[in-house]
Amino acid sequence: MKLKLHNWILIGMGAGVAVGVALHAVYDPAAPGGTGPPGWYGVVMWLLDLFGPTLFMGALKMIIAPLILASIVSGVTSLPDMRELGAIGWKTLAYYITTTSIAVAIGLVAVLLIQPGRKPGSRAVRSAAERQQAAYRRTYAEQTGRSALDPDGRPQTAYVAWLQGQKAGAGSSERYAGKLRAIQAAQKRTPGEIFIGDIVRPLLTNPFTSLAANPPNALGIIAFALLLGIACTFLGPRARPLVDVFAALNDVMMQITHWLMAISPVAIGCIVARLVAQTGPSVFSSLGWYCAAVLGGIAVHVVVLVALSATLGGVGPGRLWRGIREAWLVALTTRSSAATLPITIANTTENLDVSPKVANFSLPLGATMNMDGTALYEGVAVIFLIQLFGGLDDVPIDMTAMTTFLIFITAVLASVGAAAVPNAGLVTMVIVATAVNLPAYYIPIIFAVDAVLDMFRTSTNVLGDAVGAIVVNRLERARLGEP
Ligand code: ASP
Repeated sequence: MKLKLHNWILIGMGAGVAVGVALHAVYDPAAPGGTGPPGWYGVVMWLLDLFGPTLFMGALKMIIAPLILASIVSGVTSLPDMRELGAIGWKTLAYYITTTSIAVAIGLVAVLLIQPGRKPGSRAVRSAAERQQAAYRRTYAEQTGRSALDPDGRPQTAYVAWLQGQKAGAGSSERYAGKLRAIQAAQKRTPGEIFIGDIVRPLLTNPFTSLAANPPNALGIIAFALLLGIACTFLGPRARPLVDVFAALNDVMMQITHWLMAISPVAIGCIVARLVAQTGPSVFSSLGWYCAAVLGGIAVHVVVLVALSATLGGVGPGRLWRGIREAWLVALTTRSSAATLPITIANTTENLDVSPKVANFSLPLGATMNMDGTALYEGVAVIFLIQLFGGLDDVPIDMTAMTTFLIFITAVLASVGAAAVPNAGLVTMVIVATAVNLPAYYIPIIFAVDAVLDMFRTSTNVLGDAVGAIVVNRLERARLGEP
């Protein structure tokens, strides 16, 4: 019997977990002390890195920029008229905003019900933070000759500023230093600077710079491709040669995607083995309830997406899973919705009868802007940190309705701003944290489990994009003249 591709991918994942567990048993990179890994360990990890992230994800990333350009131009130019582009455009955006908001709301309910920051494992972290706080208060008093607290027992403003300076400078372990630097850099910017720097400027960039950037500037490519497609439609027959070139480029990119899908089981096995070898199961001990809140929220949101697909899209759960499973598994393991985009387009158009006219336009947009899993995760993570550290001298935050509302809005925005690459949500989370005055140096505590959560939020992001394409396709089917 010939196995289907998704079965091969599952076999690859299973083998990856087995190899990863064995490697982790031989050497745990996070364990203090020890004699270091045996000589062959480095070679095995090098090979896993070569065949997983380097070659496979590298090849997927190689085709994203030309694929986004070609698919949007050919999507726009294949539409009967500009009114149709407007109809698909606003329906797609309305779907994205609605489902992302639902995702954040589900996350907030999950974290407020489960209260992961108040569970026994978290209490140990909280006690350690309180002991550290007492030490900081003493050091401040010794150094300045002034008390850290005012006569009412509230922390003095000067002391809090000093404390934040101390903690921000302390940094975290080397392994996470790069991520912490990115977070600290992001926190220094005002919302106005973030809007101009992350949204307006990227939109209006020289297209060759956008295509050549690493990772590619997807917003800039989308804006340019839309303009190009609209102008081609406007010019009609005179622009026909250009339209044909982009249609052919799109087909060629999809052909390369199929070749990459064929080798994906081996590559995915390597990615999983490497991740399990590096992480191991122990990281979940103090963060288990936090992971449960994120994953529980994601599970509920997946049910919502499946229901939307069945009711508005006319695609039932079984057909949806059979149609999208390869993209879902690739998203789960590559942790990048951009890298998965070619496979998402292939799956929806070939297995679920989504018209390329819709998929070519809405899926690149979705991979860039529509991140339900990321939005849900950002809300849960910030509330978890407030539950854990709220009330400490430098975290004077109460979970009021206003705080919850601010987290809701900023989580939606931060997910739109997140790049579709691994761990991006962790960095844009600083937008949410800053809005409620949670210092960014508390974010590293959740770094350890981020890779695992990123797997599930990315696969949810991709599922959300696919369901969006299914729904918009059904709503527009008649006008597109599709059966
Ligand atoms: N890895 C996610 C994606 O590519 C973004 C995130 O970090 O949440 O969709």
